[in-house]
Amino acid sequence: MIPSTFAYAAPETLHDAMSILAANADETKIMAGGQSLIPLLKLRLAGPAVVMDISRLADLRGIEETPSGFRIGALVTHERLINDGAVTRRWSIVEDAGEDLADPLVRNLGTFGGSLAHADPAGDWPAVALATDVVVHVQSLRGAREIPIEDFFTYLFTADLADDEILTHVDLPKPAPGTVTAYVKIAHPASGYAVAAAGVRLTIDAGGTCRAARVALTGVATTPLRAAEAERALEGAVIDDAAVRRAVECAADGIDVMGDTYAPVDYRRHLIGVVTGRAIQRALGRRP
Ligand SMILES: Cc1cc2nc3c(=O)[nH]c(=O)nc-3n(C[C@H](O)[C@H](O)[C@H](O)COP(=O)(O)OP(=O)(O)OC[C@H]3O[C@@H](n4cnc5c(N)ncnc54)[C@H](O)[C@@H]3O)c2cc1C
Repeated sequence: MIPSTFAYAAPETLHDAMSILAANADETKIMAGGQSLIPLLKLRLAGPAVVMDISRLADLRGIEETPSGFRIGALVTHERLINDGAVTRRWSIVEDAGEDLADPLVRNLGTFGGSLAHADPAGDWPAVALATDVVVHVQSLRGAREIPIEDFFTYLFTADLADDEILTHVDLPKPAPGTVTAYVKIAHPASGYAVAAAGVRLTIDAGGTCRAARVALTGVATTPLRAAEAERALEGAVIDDAAVRRAVECAADGIDVMGDTYAPVDYRRHLIGVVTGRAIQRALGRRP
């Protein structure tokens, strides 16, 4: 289908972009890579008066190493992030997620920030972000805010972002010593989106005890979310087969699992255990 008519703006600076939003926030839609927005426009599920293309905002495009980790600009494309050796050397989970994320066209146009802002309940980066405890930075003419990722996804395709706010960058921390990570996705054979996927981060001490655990899921509920019970089963436990089994068994507990024609609720609950177990094993296989 053809989108309804809209005005197009392509500001060159963040300040100009924020000014456009401040003047007309509820009628303006930000476009980054356009890989989710353009399909919505074509289907007329979105019909903004103004599409504001932020792809010229150079300040939002870099990956910078900082004393505490990495500052990842919102406009960093999937392809750029997946191939950033400094990031993937520390966070294998980023490379894993890239193995199966969309197609080359989408990977070269779609952005990390767009993926988080879009809050797709089956998006890959949201689960990676939850597993790595990123902090999201947003800005408007009213000021700047920092949002811990666990508070960011509020509902189906909804994030904690006001209409006049731009997601500028994300802080990805450095992993603690003894940390291993992995991502495993069971992809829908047609769309490639997650039917269920898990991102796992385990920090394990020299004695084999898990000091910190994150198990983040996507594709299974109205938002990407953490599997709190699986994390509880892992944290403080000596990581052996029994501990992994306990985490797998309770991974879906407390989650309002979504069903659809492709994967009914019971099957998806089962898949949550499968991807959680595989991601834990994949991460453990990376222990030195
Ligand atoms: C064929 C196809 C296959 C795909 N497969 C996958 C897949 O396997 N896994 C996966 O995770 N994703 C997949 N995607 C989605 C893809 O990753 C998108 O690129 C991503 O979801 C959105 O990024 P974008 O930069 O294109 O955002 P856009 O489409 O430009 O924007 C998406 C939404 O986010 C808002 N937005 C964007 N940037 C900002 C910002 N900086 N600040 C505030 N709001 C912002 C926009 O207003 C819009 O509402 C697929 C897409 C397609 C078309």
